[in-house]
Parts: sequence; C-alpha cells; structure tokens
Amino acid sequence: MLKTKSERKLAKQICKVVLDHFEKQYSKELGDAWNTIRDILITPSCWQYAVLLNRFNYSFELEKDLRLKGYHTLLQGSLPYYPKSMKCYLSRTPDRMPSERHQIGNLKKYYLLNAASLLPVLALELRDGEKVLDLCAAPGGKSIALLQCAYPGYLHCNEHDSLRLRWLRQTLESFIPQPLVNVIKVSELDGREMGDAQPEMFDKVLVDAPCSNDRNWLFSSDSQKAAWRISQRSNLPVLQIELLRSAIKALRPGGLLVYSTCTLSKAENQDVISEILNSYSNIMPVDIKEMARTCSQDFTFAPTGQECGLLVIPDKGKAWGPMYVAKLKKSWTT
Ligand code: SAM
Repeated sequence: MLKTKSERKLAKQICKVVLDHFEKQYSKELGDAWNTIRDILITPSCWQYAVLLNRFNYSFELEKDLRLKGYHTLLQGSLPYYPKSMKCYLSRTPDRMPSERHQIGNLKKYYLLNAASLLPVLALELRDGEKVLDLCAAPGGKSIALLQCAYPGYLHCNEHDSLRLRWLRQTLESFIPQPLVNVIKVSELDGREMGDAQPEMFDKVLVDAPCSNDRNWLFSSDSQKAAWRISQRSNLPVLQIELLRSAIKALRPGGLLVYSTCTLSKAENQDVISEILNSYSNIMPVDIKEMARTCSQDFTFAPTGQECGLLVIPDKGKAWGPMYVAKLKKSWTT
C-alpha cells in the first residue's frame, strides 16, 4: 500500500549531523522554546496541514465536510487585510487531507500547506490590477495563495532551478484556469538578475528565499550531503541579501517588499533584514506586530527584536512554521 508523505517521514531517520548543529545554534538563539520546537520538528505524527480552498474550483461540499471534521477558518476578517476570496481551513489536531492527483484538464479543489506560509502572502496586501513578482516561486504554493487574494494585472513567477520550474508550471496548471495562466509570466532567471532585467516594474515583490529549510534538513537521508549543506550554510545570507537587492531594484518607489524564509536561523532572518535596512536609505520597515497580535490564537511567535519581522515557531497544537516574515517599503525619495 502507498504510504502518505508523513508516514514515509515517520519511517525516516532524523539526521544526527543536522540535529546536533541545530541544537547548538537554536538553544542559544531561542532558549527554552527550542526544546518544544525540536520535539515537534522531529515528530512528523504531530505535524498539521492547512487546507487552502481553490476559488477557481470551489466546492461547497468540501467546505461543509471540513467544518464537520472540526476545521476552522484562519483569522478571517480579523486582519485589516484579509480578502474574503481566500479561504484557509485549519485543524488543531494533526489531521491530513489526502492530496489530490494532478489530472490534465481538471483543477484541484484545495492545496495542503503549512498555514504560516500564508502570512507572507497576506503581508503583501495584494489588490486587483497590481503588478506582482514572486522571485523564488517553486513549487508555487505562495503563487497559488496570491491568486486566491486578488486578480493581479500582471503576475511574474520566477524560479532558477529548471526541475523545480517544471513543478511550478504543473502547480499553476493544476489550480489556475487557462485564461489566467496565460497572463502569468513564468521565467527561469537567477533572481539576482531580475532587478536589472525589470527595474521599478512591480508594485509588490515577494522574496520567499532559498534557506536552511529546518523541517526538511532534519530528515536528510544522505548524511554526507547534509554535512556539506551545513558547511555551506553560512553562504546563504549572502545569496539572500543579493536576492533582496535585486528585488529592491525591481520594485517601484512606494511599492511593498516581503521577505520570508522557513528557517529559525537569525543569520538568515533578522540579520539579513538589518543589513538591508542599514544599507538603503529608501527602504523602510513596515510594522507587522499587529498581524502577530491578531493571529496569536492560531500561531506562536518568538520575539525577533524587530517591528517589521515576525517569526512563527512550531508549538503544541499549533505546529505551524518555522516561518520568518519581514515587510519593507520602498520610499519615493532616494
Ligand atoms: N515560494 C515557494 C512556494 O511557496 O512554493 C517556495 C520557494 S523555496 C523556499 C525557494 C526557491 O528559490 C527554491 O525553489 C529554489 O530553487 C529557488 N532559488 C534558489 N536560488 C535562486 C535564485 N538565485 N534565483 C531564483 N530562485 C532561486
């Protein structure tokens, strides 16, 4: 019998090299909170999966079914920006809906995701008609979520890795009707070149950056590869900063930029954003503490020391994250 993804993970070993490395770094950076986070990250049986409904193939029956199963909607209406068209259901227990199969010509009804992935999407406050860039887009979860929020005038999804680009195209085909897919531009650029290729083109830019991906790295099956990744880890902030510099170039004055990662690492989160804020006089932090206050029923946050940065940490019954989100604005003056 085919095993689900989480059952396969359950059967997998925790990668000791990665766990030891995280243990040292995160107990220093997060104190006692790390013990709970670690226990959740290494126990896939307690992971939770949110269900993002696809507005392009809406099913009343599915919504009813989720409610009957005890799912509730994510902070609908309680945030200043929360489009009614975006419906995401969460369960407090580690239930996992089966994944739908990709079938040519049939749109999927829902997308399973880590609910914290919606925070960077909501932070962008996308409105109809805006030009938006998803700089590191594969496999496409956030692109799909962006399209649940509004109808952008232009959506550019970029991904540098050609295999993952195919995955991104398949995600878009599975969730988005063809007429809309036709107005989405998909490209395979190194994101660091985008700013020069399309300067001041976009109202909104999302940089969901390549990062340590703590949840995945803990289950690396090849410990040699894992050790190599750990040894190269300190190079990631350089790439992240370069991607942000390019994103800033691609953003029009007055536009919004959201940076996100799925790691707890301060070096890839707060330090990257501090470096950007210190080196640009026209990039301003946007306060998103209100978002954390409004979402505290569903998410647990760790202090970041920044008004523009949030860090969602996995907690009991709220096993979402890790997810760091920072919100910046490009001012009109240079
Ligand atoms: N936003 C995606 C989603 O929600 O499904 C996840 C993005 S993942 C965290 C980061 C992506 O950045 C990876 O697919 C990786 O291949 C891509 N990437 C790595 N280096 C890149 C670069 N220089 N330019 C653009 N994309 C890059």
